[in-house]
Amino acid sequence: MKELVVISGKGGTGKTSLTASLAGLAPNAVLADCDVDAADLHLILAPDIRRREDFRSGHRASIRAADCIGCGRCAALCRYNAIAPAAHPSDGARVFTVEAGACEGCGVCVWNCPVNAIDFEEQVCGAWFVSDTRHGPMAHARLAPGAENSGKLVSLVREQAREIAKRENRDLVLVDGPPGTGCPVIAALTGAHGVLVVTEPTVSGAHDLLRVLALAGHLKIPAAVCINKWDIQPEQADRIEAAARAAGATPVGRVRYDKAATAAQRRGLTIIEADANSLADDIRTVWKQWMDFAKEAP
Ligand code: SF4
Ligand code: SF4
Repeated sequence: MKELVVISGKGGTGKTSLTASLAGLAPNAVLADCDVDAADLHLILAPDIRRREDFRSGHRASIRAADCIGCGRCAALCRYNAIAPAAHPSDGARVFTVEAGACEGCGVCVWNCPVNAIDFEEQVCGAWFVSDTRHGPMAHARLAPGAENSGKLVSLVREQAREIAKRENRDLVLVDGPPGTGCPVIAALTGAHGVLVVTEPTVSGAHDLLRVLALAGHLKIPAAVCINKWDIQPEQADRIEAAARAAGATPVGRVRYDKAATAAQRRGLTIIEADANSLADDIRTVWKQWMDFAKEAP
């Protein structure tokens, strides 16, 4: 079973739209939407949710007013100024409270309260799902607004997708990875068998592509590159492919700019399903060349 990841150096390159189309070309794949901060593969693939679980990560302190003796030790020790004095709701006595949004979950107050008046619950930071789609099973997730630790959630979604692939004897896990080069991207790439980096023919696209390729090189993952909307700036597309080759990556095709891509998205269809002729042919070529490359890659 191979695990292949689609990523981009930054958002807005058309990565998810391309991934949805590739999913339709992969006959026996499990999909994993690991772009957990802005998951939108579901908008095209309309998953039918079979399983939903809370995603728990990190802790938050909360003081039980009934047990607090108002010594103020927790407030003095909290380096995030998350604890403030308050009046006990029943008798007005001095107690302390935690401002949930300011608590970083370090635990210092919990360990130092002389009367154990502070709870330290694990937080629900989102949810993850296992669903059916018309292009196969999909593991996906939603991170709560402002929640952290998306790298951990990415790893969890990948793990679920791998388990489905093993259980259902599927030979490919196709991952829609997050943009950028941060912790979630590292979590999406580590241990994968190959990566397709989607970029666009702009100066920032080239810059971000090289950063992502450096990361893939560091993680020793065979990298393929696809330039989306290449015909907007053909010379820049040539330069990007040359730079990608110099960085050790393999160009596997170009996808033209076509309003049909947006029209397909509005209808909840992949570009292949919308039968967007030349545009769909571009994507079929990318898929074939990427699969050929992935087969030969170590
Ligand atoms: S350390 Fe404990 S008892 Fe003292 S103010 Fe904080 S919560 Fe209350
Ligand atoms: S857990 Fe840490 S950050 Fe949160 S209130 Fe206690 S000391 Fe402050």
